[in-house]
Amino acid sequence: MIVGDHIEGVLLDIDDTLVDTRGAFTHALAAVRVHYLPHIPDSQHGEIVAMWRADANGHYGAYTRGEQTADEQRMARANELHAAFGGAPLDAAAFEAWNNTFMTAFAAGWKPFPEARQVVDQLREHGYRIGALTNAGEELQRRKMALCGLEDVDILVTLDTFGVGKPDPRVFHEAARMLGTQHQHTLYVGDELDVDARGAKAAGLRGIWLDRPGTRRGGVHVEDRHVALNEGIPVISALNELFTHHVLGERKAT
Ligand SMILES: [Mg+2]
Repeated sequence: MIVGDHIEGVLLDIDDTLVDTRGAFTHALAAVRVHYLPHIPDSQHGEIVAMWRADANGHYGAYTRGEQTADEQRMARANELHAAFGGAPLDAAAFEAWNNTFMTAFAAGWKPFPEARQVVDQLREHGYRIGALTNAGEELQRRKMALCGLEDVDILVTLDTFGVGKPDPRVFHEAARMLGTQHQHTLYVGDELDVDARGAKAAGLRGIWLDRPGTRRGGVHVEDRHVALNEGIPVISALNELFTHHVLGERKAT
């Protein structure tokens, strides 16, 4: 599975790649459930989280294409969640309070994956340039990376850079430009096969799909190892497999 010895820079997705965003959503939606869906038992909490992450109507995707704001997509999803689980409809004022409950608990739930810090350090020790490329807003992601102790990546490209996100090739190219690495010598690692690895590959970078056990979204999302491998996209289950599965090959520190 060696991608090659010519990789010069490594770009990492943030949510569900460096940071356990699924865990933070679980925490945020628990706060929502207490206040807005108190009739839903603990045993059904997983269904709430799954519906949120599946985002079956693609509101988050619309946000990443610049068609909705962050709050518009979240309000649409909040109302779909309430409709599905027997909560009251939220108008603009009600959503403001809902959003405050959600975002406060969401931020309190941010944690890096156990191997994230060490992998960033190892990449640096091996002489790679390191960046983060994310489909969320800059202020949110800078706070998240700082709280997770990961703010020292060399560069950060967010949805605010161009107002659109992955898989638009412009964001991949901008991240490589900022890293100072050629597209074909730049690795991109993310947890969404279509948006991350396929997007990176289509933009001329080297895409890796991080398929962590138990973290698939289901529904409309392309999440099939055969699809990835047939397209020459390596699949890893945790970030440290970049080293233990020899994805990066051997490289002397520079
Ligand atoms: Mg992600």
